[in-house]
Amino acid sequence: MDLIRDLAALRERISLIRNQGKEIGFVPTMGFLHEGHLSLIETAKAQNTFVVVSIFVNPLQFGAGEDYEDYPRDLENDSRLAAVAGCDLVFYPVARDFYPSGYGTFVEVQGSITDRLCGASRPGHFRGVTTVLAKLFNLVEPHRTYFGQKDAQQCLVVKKMLEDLNYNVEFIIMPTVREPDGLAMSSRNKYLTPLQRKAAPVLYQSLQKANSLIDNGERDGKLIKELLECNIKTVPGAEIDYIQVVDVKKLEPLSQLAGTCLIALAVKFGTTRLIDNIIVEV
Ligand code: AMP
Repeated sequence: MDLIRDLAALRERISLIRNQGKEIGFVPTMGFLHEGHLSLIETAKAQNTFVVVSIFVNPLQFGAGEDYEDYPRDLENDSRLAAVAGCDLVFYPVARDFYPSGYGTFVEVQGSITDRLCGASRPGHFRGVTTVLAKLFNLVEPHRTYFGQKDAQQCLVVKKMLEDLNYNVEFIIMPTVREPDGLAMSSRNKYLTPLQRKAAPVLYQSLQKANSLIDNGERDGKLIKELLECNIKTVPGAEIDYIQVVDVKKLEPLSQLAGTCLIALAVKFGTTRLIDNIIVEV
């Protein structure tokens, strides 16, 4: 497996790979890899002849006071895990090469899909995400790219950017990989204290309760939100950022559930912000 940091070296390698007629599967990450990331890499390996994983903690998508400096980093372990999962090339640029002094171009998807949910709680976050991904897609020139359903809103936003900017990249969404107790895997789970870690599965448990309520015929969006809120508030230290019951295309709040609905939430345990979601068909 290749490890490349330099942008020009990456371009050279990608051009060689494409000239050999290989199909490139690309998994962008911020590193500190876990089984969620590995499931994306394994699927990319199964569907492509060359797999690129990027590891880059992108300063642009962190707000002031967020965890950019503290975000966990472990390139050595990540490279080992990525190689085992089938990665052929890890690209790990440094921030000063990606955003040199005088850098001034940004990619922003506008509208309700970036304004709501995480977009409302983290202004500028999705602009940072789409800017870094536009650059990464230009450099890696993938045939297919793989994202996780855990970040449901990110999937919507990136898909929209790919369509709007005419990228010729197939966009593949993979299911959320969870710990045995249901907690969605996340690099940020590492921040949780033992007590917070014990409480955190309440997120998925609440989503599952909402799901069974809907299975039993409940369609009232407000009532479902209230159920989630009550459940999450039963655990000590959980501070709700948002709970939303929305349509899956525009993220408009639903008073009555219909069609494909997204139930998404963000909850803070101390300074650690966790997100999770389910999709329900009614
Ligand atoms: P991150 O390193 O957190 O930016 O995530 C990189 C990619 O991995 C994104 O497409 C995430 O949606 C995906 N991902 C993160 N956690 C999970 C998970 N638990 N299950 C599936 N995909 C995930």
